[in-house]
Amino acid sequence: NEVVGHGIPDMRELEDGDIVNVDISPILDGWHSDLNETFCVGNVAQKTKDLVKASHDSLMKAIAQCKPGYFYRDVGGVVTKHVNGQGFSVDKTYCGHGVGQLFHCAPNIPHYVGNKAKFTMKPGHCFTIEPMINMGSWKGEHWPDGWTAVTKDGKPSAQFEHVILMNETGAEVLTARTPDSPPLWWEV
Ligand code: MN
Ligand code: MN
Repeated sequence: NEVVGHGIPDMRELEDGDIVNVDISPILDGWHSDLNETFCVGNVAQKTKDLVKASHDSLMKAIAQCKPGYFYRDVGGVVTKHVNGQGFSVDKTYCGHGVGQLFHCAPNIPHYVGNKAKFTMKPGHCFTIEPMINMGSWKGEHWPDGWTAVTKDGKPSAQFEHVILMNETGAEVLTARTPDSPPLWWEV
């Protein structure tokens, strides 16, 4: 719901109308990956469903722009343009990141317009894009556990994440859905 990221699972049962993000970071033979999706539980308010889909679509639009020579800083412009058009805002605290034998390595890939991220995409780069989109203000705060990031205004936040490998010709989504993946709710 209002958790932007890094929520720790607890004993609270899911309730009708919740949205819940599941973020999975496997390590295989010393190599990291990273993927997340936001799921709707039962009857979710239409505006919240719009928020979830906007976060997904902003990610896919950003991925569609990725190619060798593309500026990492321009990812934020694509994400922001898509969600601002629907009245939503982009979290500025957390970024996409490189993945490899280190989990969170360079480059930093902010999702907001006007960021100053360094570098262009080059073949062999492997990185995430993972926009956190808020219904209200982009501003966040942390719970007293010092870990869980939430929206300051308590309004919902949604996120999707993929790992992208840059090839000579374009972007390959290493975490892409497969033909037997369950469809996203708006595809049903
Ligand atoms: Mn990540
Ligand atoms: Mn993740």
